[in-house]
Amino acid sequence: MTFSPPIPLPKVQDLFQWGKEKLTPLGDLEAQASCEWMLEHLLGLSRSDVYLQKHLPVSPDQEALFRGWVERCILREPLAYILGESFFWNEKLAMGPGCLVPRPETEILVQVAGEKIKTLPRPVSFLDLGTGSGAIAIALLKNDSRVQATLVDLSLEALEFAGKNIRQHGLEDRATLLRSDLFQDLVSDQKWDLVVSNPPYLSAADLEQMEPELRYEPREALYGGSDGLDFYRRLIADSADRLNAGGWLVMEMGIHQSQAIRKTLELSGLYQEIEITKDYLGVDRVIAAQKK
Ligand code: SAM
Ligand code: GLN
Repeated sequence: MTFSPPIPLPKVQDLFQWGKEKLTPLGDLEAQASCEWMLEHLLGLSRSDVYLQKHLPVSPDQEALFRGWVERCILREPLAYILGESFFWNEKLAMGPGCLVPRPETEILVQVAGEKIKTLPRPVSFLDLGTGSGAIAIALLKNDSRVQATLVDLSLEALEFAGKNIRQHGLEDRATLLRSDLFQDLVSDQKWDLVVSNPPYLSAADLEQMEPELRYEPREALYGGSDGLDFYRRLIADSADRLNAGGWLVMEMGIHQSQAIRKTLELSGLYQEIEITKDYLGVDRVIAAQKK
């Protein structure tokens, strides 16, 4: 009888190296960050352990899974969809096709809305219009235990993710989920202290040049009409009636949109104290306005 020597199992560092090389077309930083995230998820490791445990052997099943994920990344499928999770405001959220992956710049919107909430008399209620995964509402609810939220989306798929995330974070008692086309299907006399929204804001021209990953995300979550501003016109016209006295409308904006949105707010005559906040790249990203 002859014995062939066992084939050694690959180690964490071997998969890391292979994955990084395969993903170099995405850019070195993106390739590295994606491999770190995949290995964390695959092996239940922390980010630092991906490096500290680099000699850990990986089973054939795990190796096959990892290689499959890398192949899907090469086709520009968002990693958040592949792994079924995303991170926002340090919280883990369930994620998948049909639901927009929350973006880091949306944390500026949470910061601004959180500051406004602090200035309002308790208890505070807010409405998150176009909630998607529930990212914004969950961050705000976690920040302050004396706040109540209504989460609205038109997409049932998005609402399913939002509901799952609200339950996973134990926030059911302070959150209501509703399907509506903006305010249209909501009880007509209900009012809130703050309306927060990251509406779809890409223009027709933006859609044509968008990154391949965005093609996996729902068009309804991204497209804001030919000039990208359709949702702002509706939000500005309709929010004032739905805000309590002194309440705030706080919205995320796309690049080069702030002046047009400021003008629409001013011309409506419904708001005062218009404030614009920039993101980390210096882009006007968030606009807040107080109901007159
Ligand atoms: N709030 C999430 C975030 O920041 O990650 C998702 C924002 S995404 C840019 C816009 C969201 O608005 C999507 O979830 C989309 O389904 C929803 N939406 C689009 N049209 C809508 C409408 N007419 N009424 C309510 N929600 C709408
Ligand atoms: N921030 C997204 C992007 O440009 C767009 C999201 C939105 O339309 N609100 O990738």
